[in-house]
Amino acid sequence: MMRLAALLLALVALLPAPAPAHAWGFYAHRQTAAIAEANVTPEVRAKIRALLAYETALGTPECPLKTLEDAAVWADCVRGEGWRWGYTAAWHYRTAPICQAFNPRANCAGGACVTAQITRAHRVLADESLPAPIRLEALAFMVHFAGDVHMPLHSGDNEDRGGNDREADYGIRPGYNLHSVWDGPLAERAITDPADPVVRRYTPAERADLGRGSPDEWGRESWEIARSFVYPTAFDSEDVCAAPLPDKAALSQDDIVRGVPIARRRVQQAGVRIADLLTSAFAPGALAVPEPR
Ligand SMILES: [Zn+2]
Repeated sequence: MMRLAALLLALVALLPAPAPAHAWGFYAHRQTAAIAEANVTPEVRAKIRALLAYETALGTPECPLKTLEDAAVWADCVRGEGWRWGYTAAWHYRTAPICQAFNPRANCAGGACVTAQITRAHRVLADESLPAPIRLEALAFMVHFAGDVHMPLHSGDNEDRGGNDREADYGIRPGYNLHSVWDGPLAERAITDPADPVVRRYTPAERADLGRGSPDEWGRESWEIARSFVYPTAFDSEDVCAAPLPDKAALSQDDIVRGVPIARRRVQQAGVRIADLLTSAFAPGALAVPEPR
């Protein structure tokens, strides 16, 4: 009996812990880069590879930058090293309250927000007069932030730090918060369908449907999803702004099933739009991303 109890405890210890509560989990971010890579030309892929050859010049051996998939998670990896990279923490989001009218000019003091940083990184990457390591750093920031801006809770929240302050059950699994549910298990389930892989070459019609828009518009889409879907489902409420929300949320199996296509489309959109950002950055003279407002 004691041995059985010890075995059970050991098994519980092996269960995966919820992902750290910032940004899409590593898996979803890496998938956006894999989608992007499958949807750029060989010439663009070669230019990416040429910049990645400068990996050691960035001096971040704990956070490798050997592939575009590495680049997609590099910004989350380095931010843990506070003395050197702490100033980038606010670059990962631009949360606006879902219970107030959307203000496109708010929440980006000094350009320290996700949408402005996508634009900045794109311009630096596109500028071939700059040193390669500077452009490689910009490449990594751009690929990661263009993923972050598609995660609904990086744009919309309800006085809870993008859902981080709301405890949440994921189906029968406790121990998450609302943010980490959308970062981790929901995103992972949404993009793990062997019959319909998200990483593939998309048709021109699919690209037209998934792509387009500016970083500001991508953030606004995320805010709208947070307002109209993420909060109402998590709190089983038609009007989440009528009264203060409880600290505890729960996603039922039905909520999860309805959330999967939404989370999946956000990852696909991020991947295709990253492909477009890379293409425009590496095409001489092309700056498709508009000026920051
Ligand atoms: Zn992030």
